[in-house]
Amino acid sequence: NRRFLLIRRPHGTPVPEDFQLETSETPALEEGQFLLRNHYVSLDPAMRGWMDDRPSYLPPISLGDPVRASTIGRIAESRNPDFPVGAWASGLNGIEEYSLGQGGGFTRLVDETAVPKITNYLSSIGAIGLTAYFALLEVGQPKAGETVLVSGAAGAVGSLVGQIAKLKGCRTIGIAGGAEKCARLISDYGYDAAIDYRGKSGDDLAQAIREAAPNGVDVHFENVGGEILDAALLALNPRGRVVLCGLISQYNTAPKPTYNVWQLIVQGARMEGFILTHYVHRFGEAVPQLAEWVRAGKLRMDEHIDEGIENALPAFLRLFEGTNQGKMILKIAE
Ligand code: NDP
Repeated sequence: NRRFLLIRRPHGTPVPEDFQLETSETPALEEGQFLLRNHYVSLDPAMRGWMDDRPSYLPPISLGDPVRASTIGRIAESRNPDFPVGAWASGLNGIEEYSLGQGGGFTRLVDETAVPKITNYLSSIGAIGLTAYFALLEVGQPKAGETVLVSGAAGAVGSLVGQIAKLKGCRTIGIAGGAEKCARLISDYGYDAAIDYRGKSGDDLAQAIREAAPNGVDVHFENVGGEILDAALLALNPRGRVVLCGLISQYNTAPKPTYNVWQLIVQGARMEGFILTHYVHRFGEAVPQLAEWVRAGKLRMDEHIDEGIENALPAFLRLFEGTNQGKMILKIAE
């Protein structure tokens, strides 16, 4: 069982010395236990936060443990009738070839025909789709005709947010890095306008947003933070809503101040953090809707699949370099 362990807490951007690829025996199973052979590992920006030793919604990864990650795979051995050999299952496990299960925390993927690809359980109908769905619709409360601005717009969550906002009749503006991603915002994800943030300072960004959103912004969906959030706040309409979904620009650096929160007062606007774990009890209503949109071709979900557990770090770092084209997934078994 090869496992990708965290052996040192990263300072800034993680480096190879922070990790170790260890090989160990798989444990003998006790009654009720099973062994999941992980095929696909979800690589998420949040994993960077779990590597730090600070209070969060989950405890930090202990040094010497595998890097925590959601996985999907097939049951390889079982002494649990609810998880028979060969069945697909998912769970919040680690970057490891085999995960030991007792039942709790693992979900059987019973309806493999609900979506085109098994990996969609990590993307469109997994945490990514659910985040886009609840964060936009519940926190953002978009109404038809309103303008929705999205940062990190070409990424996994951002690409879905733009498409769901469009399905709800909104005008959508996406912010992403580089001309090629900005072209894809419009051609692949249906955004009405795209802004390339690269090489733009605070004032240029604010100007670009004003030009793309001449009537102002009603909902701003934030995946990035920093200068982008500051510029977006300046474009808010009265009673605007800011959804704080992620602040990826800050995950490898010390947090930077946000200067323009005074706009929330001026506009009587609201800024609210979102965390998916608060919506677990409502997943059952969102998954069928997301799956239906995917099957009907209304929701395009791109997945970027790198291969090999030994490539876990470079694949993870793509999220911070912006070299991922869609939901970042690591394939570690055929
Ligand atoms: P993405 O697929 O969006 O990949 C990350 C993207 O972020 C990169 O491709 C890059 O795009 C952009 N990026 C990285 N660093 C910077 C930077 N310094 N400045 C600007 N853009 C940057 O990842 P996800 O869809 O998985 O996650 C998107 C966000 O959603 C993250 O902030 C994540 O933490 C958050 N999230 C929150 C959840 C919650 O419950 N609150 C649940 C799931 C995700 P580009 O090339 O455009 O720069």
